[in-house]
Amino acid sequence: MKNYSVAVLSGDGIGPEVMEVTLPILETVGKKFGFSFTFSHAPVGGIAIDTKGKALPDETVEICRGSQAILFGSVGGPKWESLPPNEQPERAALLPIRKIFGLYANLRPAICYAQLIHASPIKNEFIPQGFDVLVVRELTGGIYFGKPKETVQTETGERAVDTMVYTTEEITRITHIAFKAAQKRRKLLHLIDKANVLETSILWRKTVKAIAAQYPDVTLQFMYVDNAAMQVAKSPTQFDVMLCENMFGDIISDEIAAVTGSLGMLPSSSLAEGSFGLYEPSGGTAPDIAGKGIANPIAQILSAALMLRYSFQEETAALAIEGAVKKTIEQGYRTGDIYTEGMKKVGTKEIGQIILQNL
Ligand code: NAD
Repeated sequence: MKNYSVAVLSGDGIGPEVMEVTLPILETVGKKFGFSFTFSHAPVGGIAIDTKGKALPDETVEICRGSQAILFGSVGGPKWESLPPNEQPERAALLPIRKIFGLYANLRPAICYAQLIHASPIKNEFIPQGFDVLVVRELTGGIYFGKPKETVQTETGERAVDTMVYTTEEITRITHIAFKAAQKRRKLLHLIDKANVLETSILWRKTVKAIAAQYPDVTLQFMYVDNAAMQVAKSPTQFDVMLCENMFGDIISDEIAAVTGSLGMLPSSSLAEGSFGLYEPSGGTAPDIAGKGIANPIAQILSAALMLRYSFQEETAALAIEGAVKKTIEQGYRTGDIYTEGMKKVGTKEIGQIILQNL
């Protein structure tokens, strides 16, 4: 029997609660489709600061290195917000993990189920069937990492510089990921850029256009990021796959997540070359509801499905989890964040149990 090794980094806040219901779902789907898991738990984030003295302890990195994928909860919370910025959980754990493991491709599906359109801030008549968009964001290049990056004293005050840099190679590898994803979906790819102003965007357009010839079944369109921000808020149904450089993707993926209306439903995957990846909910540690047993575990469960798809090539098992989630929503079960009158209100463990039964 195939066995997959997974580093389980639950983190803080609702992280451990949603992880607790996700692992049995993975084990069940494994039994159904003939594979098993070895889960190695390791501390990360605030809990790691408290117990090991830093947000990303060396032992945790070693456990991740020895695994085929990382299933991540989320990190941070008010307790650690007074620490220096570089020591705070998100910055001191997630950014280094991305760098250490070369996680250059961030795939964030934003799905608004037809049954949950009431949660979207968009007028429901514009999204009668909901929507399903995949944001593919470049994660290790661009303005967040380009050099020079500095603040220097001047005669009149200070001068700060960030630098946006991209190479053909960086653009090429993520573009193939976006085209391949589009081929499995509705075969439409939008490159989101600012090619009327930025040199890097001109290189993105040139590179993506050249690669498009290898994917004749996918329609390629270009859209300026300012327009895209408006279109996401007006009519997200027009998009299938949105390919973005790092900063544009950061903003667009959060915007479209907000437009779905239910942060607790959205998974995310960050992929390296080969099959290694990190899988996590799009939301944070939700300190306002942590410890109450009411968090929505679906984002974490769907992140586990993405892990099966991208790291283990277990597409049928991934679809089975996604199908069980969909069925649970269709049956009317809702955690508080997506609840409306007349539906069946359930807590974290209950909804996990129902998804498990639907598997
Ligand atoms: P958040 O996503 O934690 O919460 C925003 C709102 O969404 C809250 O009302 C919360 O209750 C709700 N929410 C989020 N996930 C939910 C779920 N699964 N079920 C039900 N409701 C859910 O964002 P925030 O409040 O800006 O951040 C809180 C902490 O999380 C901060 O310390 C922040 O740094 C951290 N954070 C971590 C990550 C990460 O680990 N990747 C990402 C974002 C924020």
